[in-house]
Amino acid sequence: MFADRINQLQTFATPCYVYDRSLLAATLEAIRQEVCGHDNYHVHYAIKANANPAVLRQIAAAGFGADCVSGGEIRAALEAGFPPESIFFAGVGKADWEIRLALETGIGMFNVESLEELEVINEIATLLNIRAKVSFRINPDVSAHTHAHITTGRAENKFGIAKEHMVDVIHQAQSMASIDVLGLHFHIGSQLLEMDDFEALCNRINELQLTLGEAGLHVDNINVGGGLGIDYDEPDAHPIPDFQAYFSTFTKHLQLREGQRLHFELGRAVTAQMGTLLTRVLYVKHATEKQFVIVDAGMTELIRPALYGAHHRIDNLSAQADSEVAEGNADARNESVCYDVVGPICESSDVFAKDYSMPETRRGDLLAIRSAGAYGETMASTYNCRSLPDTHII
Ligand SMILES: *Cc1c(COP(=O)(O)O)cnc(C)c1O
Repeated sequence: MFADRINQLQTFATPCYVYDRSLLAATLEAIRQEVCGHDNYHVHYAIKANANPAVLRQIAAAGFGADCVSGGEIRAALEAGFPPESIFFAGVGKADWEIRLALETGIGMFNVESLEELEVINEIATLLNIRAKVSFRINPDVSAHTHAHITTGRAENKFGIAKEHMVDVIHQAQSMASIDVLGLHFHIGSQLLEMDDFEALCNRINELQLTLGEAGLHVDNINVGGGLGIDYDEPDAHPIPDFQAYFSTFTKHLQLREGQRLHFELGRAVTAQMGTLLTRVLYVKHATEKQFVIVDAGMTELIRPALYGAHHRIDNLSAQADSEVAEGNADARNESVCYDVVGPICESSDVFAKDYSMPETRRGDLLAIRSAGAYGETMASTYNCRSLPDTHII
């Protein structure tokens, strides 16, 4: 999809993010197709994956709700046009001003992570004379097959309320003046590709619903969080995640009670593939052991490789274009070379790829770091006094 747009891309100053509006539209439509037969399914986009205003407006216009983890995200969601009642607010450390903002703007749900937090929400809601709608985030103690830094549903993680405390916490909440208990919330991790992990979550929720029933309790909302992964190796083969497999896992394995609504909070699966970090090669450095491709983007624009050891596919768009023009003649860059692709930041972890095979690469080449639409721009920093990256919607 990018090779034929090289002339347009060449005009952009680098580093910058490029977002593909039509791929985002196709992804949103693929989700809609899967949930449209289920009136009780509601998908909330997890704003933290990509909070670019144009991206948010497109997702809001497609009828999705929003999942927020800060007051700033609640503001961004409201500005983009998400209806307040479709906005859910999660996070282990909600500050008083954020709770006040959420109550005053009439968001749909607090996903509460501790009894201590619940008490503060009740106090503030009572002062404002507003009822707070809450779900409890229960730590299901389910382990998921993903990077240790992005699993969230194990007993040792900081997230959620221990499942053993669920009934007790709900009883305490019911005695509070300004709290309405509306549901249970779960989120087991991110970049999950094995449906078995979601099936394990369903089985755990089924058990917990039995426990609730035995205690004479019922909730109207079940929220299974997000976490569906994407194909970082072959983004062109799989530009849209397998939403059919994902949603059908819940349809098949989750035993909902009469009238229960089911909420999903997808982030990465919605925006990762539509984003590319464009960067230019500054130098190809021939060192003693290795050849380094030094690019003008770094961990300041995309920190995932440095933070989680993540791998992103890197395409040399200039080499692809040369090969098309020069088919068969000497300018074609048919030979593959093994490079370390690194950024300019003064940190040894500022590496996009090690021992990465690419066509022979030259100063000035335009590279596309793929699948960068989630947890890319939102995690950018100004470390080394750099500017935040530009973005282009194409
Ligand atoms: C981050 C997060 C999500 C989204 O996760 P993805 O892996 O991007 O789908 C959903 N819910 C909660 C509570 C989160 O913290």
